Amino acid sequence: MAGDLKISEMRDLTKIERVGAHSHIRGLGLDSALEPRAASEGMVGQTSARKAAGVIVKMIQEGKIAGRAVLIAGKPGTGKTAIAMGMAKSIGQETPFSMLAGSELFSLEMSKTEALMQAFRKAIGVRIKEETEVIEGEVVEIQIDRPAVAGAASKTGKLTVKTTEMETVYELGGKMIEALGKEKVQSGDVIAIDKASGKITKLGRSFSRSRDYDAMGPQTKFVQCPDGELQKRKEIVHCVTLHEIDVINSRTQGFLALFTGDTGEIRGEVREQIDTKVAEWREEGKAEIVPGVLFIDEVHMLDIECFSFLNRALENDMAPILVVATNRGITTIRGTNYKSPHGIPLDFLDRLLIISTQPYTEEDIRKILDIRCQEEEVEMSDDAKILLTKIGVETSLRYAIQLITSAALACQKRKGRIVEIEDISRVYELFYDVHRSTQYLMEYQSEFMF
Ligand code: ATP
Repeated sequence: MAGDLKISEMRDLTKIERVGAHSHIRGLGLDSALEPRAASEGMVGQTSARKAAGVIVKMIQEGKIAGRAVLIAGKPGTGKTAIAMGMAKSIGQETPFSMLAGSELFSLEMSKTEALMQAFRKAIGVRIKEETEVIEGEVVEIQIDRPAVAGAASKTGKLTVKTTEMETVYELGGKMIEALGKEKVQSGDVIAIDKASGKITKLGRSFSRSRDYDAMGPQTKFVQCPDGELQKRKEIVHCVTLHEIDVINSRTQGFLALFTGDTGEIRGEVREQIDTKVAEWREEGKAEIVPGVLFIDEVHMLDIECFSFLNRALENDMAPILVVATNRGITTIRGTNYKSPHGIPLDFLDRLLIISTQPYTEEDIRKILDIRCQEEEVEMSDDAKILLTKIGVETSLRYAIQLITSAALACQKRKGRIVEIEDISRVYELFYDVHRSTQYLMEYQSEFMF
């Protein structure tokens, strides 16, 4: 299998942009001296944590902290996830970012270490460079050999293409034949065929056929045939994650599994073959590894087995930057009877650079809510924003952010255009019905031990 990794399917992968809770984060918002700007790249406040994160990114870029990890400690909703994502974005816009909550490991239908392995490989990007051949010229003749038995084998054929200087015959595969048919290509057309993807672009009719002009009508485009070189080499770069390569190659229809998320466990030997292949590509200069950021929230939920997995995984030269977060103080390490800071074993603590996040001021909350309103394209009156900020201060920033979407729906329902105080209070009351959730948050807050 290693010889024919399914590149073509990977090529078709389109990145799905998530309009999630953090879609407004575009970086850490630092200037070139790594000083945090008050509000930049979607980031507001939390200046010392952002600065520390920026220093870490710099060290990563200079290759100085291999095998280490970052711990962000702070209360819920103080931007731990936002900062981890900001780190990924400031390394590069295509840096892979994957996140996982410690508690998810215990509810997935796979072993804890498999789930961790998948999360790791989602955060390792492979930038694959491929050269593709583009044929460009006038079609002289298309000859298609139909299979003897209908549907027995795919069609093959020959395509004669000429430029002003030469004429060449190309062997055609099934995909290209289909594309020629779809584009209704005929002799005299000037076309470009991307041999790797089979994509055909009709550039127009050839000048040499200009005698057809009257018959073709004035809208027909006539183009000069390219001279000499029929084959152009074009470099295409795809960026995929190791996890995507794993899933696609782990079974037939693996490509679909990527979209349903139903990836199941991936066999060790599949990964080994993929790693070998990727190592070959790296040696041949065809691929580069792009280490991303893996964010594990609620790290205190991991048990001792998970920590030893992380210790080992960080030693790998392709390892992403691991950022873990917790809002716990001293607590028991799961799977043992020992207590330790943040529920993390001492040998793993030793690897960590620690950043702490602080609660937001009222002004910060107001600014973040402003940014989220813009991001969600919700128009809100000033009075409504003041009320929402107050709710954010009294409950949590996350809760206030969630009210934006539901208040906009309430506004839409009464056929309003701008979200007003009444919409905010309506959804606030609605959530208030679920009194337990606020109650829970308050109980939860008393559990912090800093
Ligand atoms: P938890 O511990 O509950 O996981 P958290 O500390 O990870 O919470 P986030 O999820 O990052 O908190 O923050 C809550 C929301 O506020 C998110 O939508 C996040 O993008 C936004 N946010 C947090 N901090 C900032 C910030 N400094 N600037 C802009 N947006 C922020």
